[in-house]
Amino acid sequence: MSTYIFGHTNPDSDSIIGAISLAYLKNQLGEDCIATRQGDISAETEFILNKFNGTTPELKTSYAGENVYLVDFSDLGQAPKDIKEATILGIYDHHKLGDLTTSTPLECWIRPIGCSNTVIKEAYDYYNVEIPKDIAGMMLCAILSDTVIFKSPTCTKIDTKVVKELAKIAEIEDYKALGMEMFIVKSAVDGATARELTTRDYKEFTMGGEKLGIGQLEVVDLSVFDDKKEMLFEDMKKLKDESGLHSVLILLTDIMKEGSQLLVVSDDESKFENAFECKLEDSQTWLDGVLSRKKQVIPFIQPQFEK
Ligand code: MG
Ligand code: MG
Ligand code: MG
Repeated sequence: MSTYIFGHTNPDSDSIIGAISLAYLKNQLGEDCIATRQGDISAETEFILNKFNGTTPELKTSYAGENVYLVDFSDLGQAPKDIKEATILGIYDHHKLGDLTTSTPLECWIRPIGCSNTVIKEAYDYYNVEIPKDIAGMMLCAILSDTVIFKSPTCTKIDTKVVKELAKIAEIEDYKALGMEMFIVKSAVDGATARELTTRDYKEFTMGGEKLGIGQLEVVDLSVFDDKKEMLFEDMKKLKDESGLHSVLILLTDIMKEGSQLLVVSDDESKFENAFECKLEDSQTWLDGVLSRKKQVIPFIQPQFEK
């Protein structure tokens, strides 16, 4: 029986490439593993796969009765609906510990570093397995994506060191230029529907019994949203009603200016004014220096709901 390896719903590059890189490692170690995905891949991930001859993992959303490894999440809300009927053999992640539990012992590689693929690189080193050139290139891109080319406060010395090591294996000289090329691909918003944009990098969280949806769009120039904000707000309202959410937030992140425009649709805007010590104007505000949802947004919002 094969074991499936996959990342969170709405997979980002770390989730897709992490499934591929961990499946290769596990196969080298004699386990029969298949990389899968829970949803469509992004334009950024497609760029990475094309550049390094990668194959898109197979779409699979049901895992009852299967053995699985999870990459880049441990939250029920980001898992397949029937995850409780699967056997979780291990987790490779770099987020706060989520609410998934297991009934059997498991392997856990969870580290407070910039990217799951950095964690997986450490596993390659631990098991002394050589990383193929193309997989190294893909892992490098996943790390540059998650750390916003090292600018994110989630980036650690371990991530920068691992990128340098992967660049050597992949024979990439100017990896920062490759990172920029990737973020320009990621910045394309023309032609996308409002729903594609609000949910492109979107996660739901439960805080103090309330459900919140938080999306993020990372671009090289915020002006691409000048004529799109109205349609984003409309769709955020729809999303809130459809899913019975307390709030929907979108971070429009400018990776060059290094900050985010926060858009809020909420039953109680004051929670976010308190969280970020700001005044919302037209339900939005600029958060200077904020690049990371995980480190600079969630930890400030959560206490507002759990006090
Ligand atoms: Mg992710
Ligand atoms: Mg990640
Ligand atoms: Mg991200």
